[in-house]
This record gives sequence, structure tokens and C-alpha cells, in this order.
Amino acid sequence: MKPLCFSENFKALRISSGATQKTLAEALQVSPRTLSLWEKGERIPTVEQALAVAERFGLTVEELFYGEEESLEKIPGMASMTELYKIGSGPSSSHTMGPEKACMIFKERYPNADRFAVTLYGSLAKTGEGHGTDRVIVKTLAPIPCAITFDTVTGDLPHPNTMELFAYRGKEEIARTRVYSVGGGAIRFEGESVAESKHIYDLDTFNDISAYCKKEGLRLWEYVYQVEGNDFKDYLMEIWKAMRRSIAAGLEDDGILPGGLNVHKKAKHLYNLQHVDETPETKTNRLISAYAFAVGEQNACGCRIVTAPTCGAAGVLPAVLYFQQKKGGYTDEEICRALATGGLIGNLIKTNASISGAECGCQAEVGSACAMAAAALAELFELSLDKIEYSAEIAIEHHLGLTCDPICGLVQIPCIERNAVAAMRAINAVNLSSFLSDTRKISLDKVIVTMRDTGRDLNRQYRETSEGGLAKIRIH
Ligand code: SF4
Repeated sequence: MKPLCFSENFKALRISSGATQKTLAEALQVSPRTLSLWEKGERIPTVEQALAVAERFGLTVEELFYGEEESLEKIPGMASMTELYKIGSGPSSSHTMGPEKACMIFKERYPNADRFAVTLYGSLAKTGEGHGTDRVIVKTLAPIPCAITFDTVTGDLPHPNTMELFAYRGKEEIARTRVYSVGGGAIRFEGESVAESKHIYDLDTFNDISAYCKKEGLRLWEYVYQVEGNDFKDYLMEIWKAMRRSIAAGLEDDGILPGGLNVHKKAKHLYNLQHVDETPETKTNRLISAYAFAVGEQNACGCRIVTAPTCGAAGVLPAVLYFQQKKGGYTDEEICRALATGGLIGNLIKTNASISGAECGCQAEVGSACAMAAAALAELFELSLDKIEYSAEIAIEHHLGLTCDPICGLVQIPCIERNAVAAMRAINAVNLSSFLSDTRKISLDKVIVTMRDTGRDLNRQYRETSEGGLAKIRIH
């Protein structure tokens, strides 16, 4: 793990911005003494204060605490796509998948424990109940009992998503550790070095990958299989089966989503609803929406879904591919090839921008999912490399600036509906690209970088804080 260096970072940022301790303290609404203690390393800011400081200097909280240079240092290439497509419990990669992973590891490390306890801090404490963080922890540690504490008071946290795990044997505490859920389901155990995922792709821009594929006469999925190895087909097949399972389960389900918003599940209703004079176009949109709702609702219920690229945006890609498989009779193998191409686009976005709503807003989640679905569909249709690129580019370009503002912090409104809209939009993007790809002026790589820059410019309220936009609406 990178060493904490908040005090040095903060001081350097203040000095380079030309601010005095007094002026910056005023701007941040803290006392000059507090600011001085931060700079001496005798105190660290609360979560709210850290977010305000990070926003002021245009950084993420992680960059603020662990160093901008190191955080932004770009390791050439890209990680395996197995880091992108993951099967896990919804509704949030940081609030359920991360804690789930942490508990699995902790349970394995202490098989003699007869009791566990977990304390949640920061955002995990504030929105953990709504996200079902406590439920997934208890389920993962079962059958060993676990007591959960939501500590919304402690403020001096190294990361907004912090949890502390305790293992007991009888009356004795046999272990305790702090874990940070740092996004996308990734976690860090305090004091342990991070096993950085190996970058198995040498190339990390669409331009370079496209040039290589053209030279070698490869399609994008063939390039992915070449890099990932022979077993990757089987991995994708498992991913596809899990996607189909979540659609099937969602179409069977009805009732109310958990969390208190009283949102009715709609996938089954959408699937069965049919007007006598329904046009083929309306039917297409209704079914695609039903599939996207099915996955979104399963995710909101904390069921198993596939991150594509995240939990909140998990419905877009499966909805498009499932609809097309049913309509066009594509084989599972062909769908896996499409998943490989869609995943490649997701990997490029993850590497060169972000797939995190907390970092770059919903454009990074649902926008990325739409680009992945468009590229996957274009691959299924065996369109040219240029048309695949254009499809993905259109899909993400028209999500630029999309904010993340889930009501009550629940991944329900606007998230589920947004998945359906993005799935329909992905199909439109492919249609448009097949007519217009010769006229395009902007590359996919450029739009990806623009999305990153736009995300960093977004006000913090619109980056998964539940403080701005629709999230300000109170629904009971
Ligand atoms: S609004 Fe936020 S939580 Fe909902 S899908 Fe978009 S990024 Fe995820």
C-alpha cells in the first residue's frame, strides 16, 4: 500500500496555489489552527473536509492522501479483463462487493474464530444500510455470527470507505484489521502491500489496438483471446451464463425493492405487457428495457450480477446481447466474442479514464456500459473495426456530463431506468455508425480522455455523494 502523505501533499498544494493558511482555512471553513495541525501531520481531516479539500484542488481523495504523482502514474498497458467482468453481489461494487471480498479473506485467515464483528465508517456507515452492506457481510461470514456497528461519528479516516474487522475466540480478540473499499470491488488491507494486477495487454489505446489488428488481420475479439489465453473463452462463458441467470431471475420477480423507497419491480410487467397494436419497434424497446430492468432490479436486491463495468450499470450490456441472441439466434460462442470486444472498450475506459461514479459521475458507469454494449453489438453484427469504434464513441459521447445522483444512495432511481435507456441508445449508436462512420471527426480515445476530464470538473455533489441533483428529492 502507498504510504499516507496527506500533510506533505496538502502543504505543497496550498503553497503552489498561492494561498496562505489563513485564506485557505477561510475558504474551507475551518480554523487556521486546524489547518496548521493538518500540515504538521498532527491531525487529518474528516471525510467531509477531505472531500472539500480534494474538490478544491481537483483531486480524488485517494490522490490527496496517497499522492497525486503516484496515483496518476500510468502503468503502461492494461490489466486482464477478468478484473473488469466480475460476478458478485449487488448493489454496489464499493459497498457490497468490496466488503464481501474483505470478509471472505478475513474468514479464511481466521478459521478458528467463533465470532466476528465489523465496524463500518465513513460512506460505508452513512449509506451502508441502504446498500445492504451489513446484509452481505453477515451472509459472507455465516455461519459464524457477526455484529455490525455503523460508526457515523468517527471522522479521521484515511479513506471514505473504511471498515474494521474483528475476530474472536471465546472472550479473546484474536485479530483485527482495517480494510479500505477503494472502488470497483477492489480492497486494500491496511499495512499490506497491494498486489497490483498484472498488465497483460501491452497496448492501451484504441488507435494502437486497431492498428495492430489491421496489420495482423485480427478482429478485436481475436486480439483479446490472443492476449488473455485459451481459457478465457471459458471465463466469458461463465460470465454470459451469470448474465443470463440474472435476466431470467429478474423477469420472474415481482414485489418491492428493498431500501424504503417503495419502488415496484417492473421487469416482469414490462416483459409481459403487450398492446394489441404494438409495433415491432415498440416491442424491441419494451423487451430490451425489460431485460435491463431485470438485471438492475436483481442488483438492487443484492443478488448475484456481473459488473459490466460496475454493479449500477450492470443491465445495459446483457440486455442488448440477450435481446439480440433471442432475436437473431446467435450462439453462446458468438456472444462471448461480443463480450470480449465490449470488455476491451470497458478496459480502455477503465485504464484511461474511470468507471467509477464516485470519481467521474454516471457518464463513467452507464456511459461506459453503453459504449461497451454498442461495441459488443457491432462485433456481433461483424461490422468493421472503424464502425465498432464509431459505435462506442457515439455511445459514450452522448453521456458526457451525466451526473451520479441516486436517491437516498440506493442504486434504484435513476439507475435502473437509466440502464434501460442506455441499452436502447447503444442500439441506436450502432445503427448510426453503420451509416456515418466515414464522416466522423473524433476518435474513441479522445472521447475517453474527455470523459475523464469532464468527470474531474464535475462538482463533488454529482459524484455519488447523494447530495445533488435527483438525490436531493426526498421520497417516502
Ligand atoms: S446514478 Fe450513480 S449509482 Fe446510479 S448507476 Fe449512475 S453512477 Fe451508478
